[in-house]
Amino acid sequence: MELRIRNLSKTYANGVVALDKVTLTIPTGMFGLLGPNGAGKSTLMRTLATLQECDAGSVFLGDIDVLDEKDAVRRMLGYLPQDFGVYPKVTAYEMLEHFAVLKGLSHRARRREVVDGLLQQTNLWEVRHQRLGGFSGGMRQRFGIAQALLGDPKLIIVDEPTAGLDPQERVRFHNLLSDISEDKTVILSTHIVSDVADLCAQMAIINKGHVLLCGKPQELIYDIEESIWERFVTKAELPDFQRRHAVISTRLLAGRTLIRAYSEQDPGDGFCPAKADLEDVYFATIAGRYTAETDCQEAR
Ligand code: ADP
Repeated sequence: MELRIRNLSKTYANGVVALDKVTLTIPTGMFGLLGPNGAGKSTLMRTLATLQECDAGSVFLGDIDVLDEKDAVRRMLGYLPQDFGVYPKVTAYEMLEHFAVLKGLSHRARRREVVDGLLQQTNLWEVRHQRLGGFSGGMRQRFGIAQALLGDPKLIIVDEPTAGLDPQERVRFHNLLSDISEDKTVILSTHIVSDVADLCAQMAIINKGHVLLCGKPQELIYDIEESIWERFVTKAELPDFQRRHAVISTRLLAGRTLIRAYSEQDPGDGFCPAKADLEDVYFATIAGRYTAETDCQEAR
């Protein structure tokens, strides 16, 4: 089911413009919303999840007016917020069953079927009688997905779900998201580029309340393929290179500083062509060096 966001704006009481005429079309499947901290992602996610009012704009999920028909949206929505608190002394099974009752699953046998199924799907069956307080970060996030899936939602919003997960748990969580996204619209809000690279067929980059770019990760990478250059520099040389070139990222590699620059022509100065990836797209976009001609209004 398609989600159409048009000119959505939000200014907080303290004057911070969190969303400035955000326009996006989000198709079925996995959509990555990528942006640094403070970009406006959570504000957008909370607005879509009907938990917060915006100042202007419109949002439609299919035919449903999201800003107006909140109850209808909530029946179709699964939401995993950034800070997902759990009752530490309650077991996973008890908690999920409680959420299921709240979701309106009043028929006991049917409820048991749904709860059992979700615990199996999220790989929590073996630990279903353990208390949530003893769960690892990854287990807790998978439990969050189990509760978000109650009621068979058509739109699922997950806000910064992999921060703090170890690599193994991240892979597990990615697989779970990828499985559930087949017939649903799943919005993954994150500042972690590899989450989007691994999972999302469509994406947008947002910063300071603006949508800067949207499209298919592979196409965006292809677009900058010949514009990424790299070389090692010493720490002392770095400021000079940053002044003279469009340096989009610096990182340490085996104790040396590797810089990557965006340039449509060979920048010379000892730079070599580098294989572009989604991090380059992201950093070049955030740095204002790269603006693709993408139409964020229509899903491509
Ligand atoms: P992100 O999720 O991308 O980190 P947020 O939507 O949380 O971004 O925040 C966007 C901007 O709005 C930030 O500058 C943040 O400080 C500000 N902000 C978020 N919530 C509030 C609030 N309740 N009151 C005032 N400012 C807020």
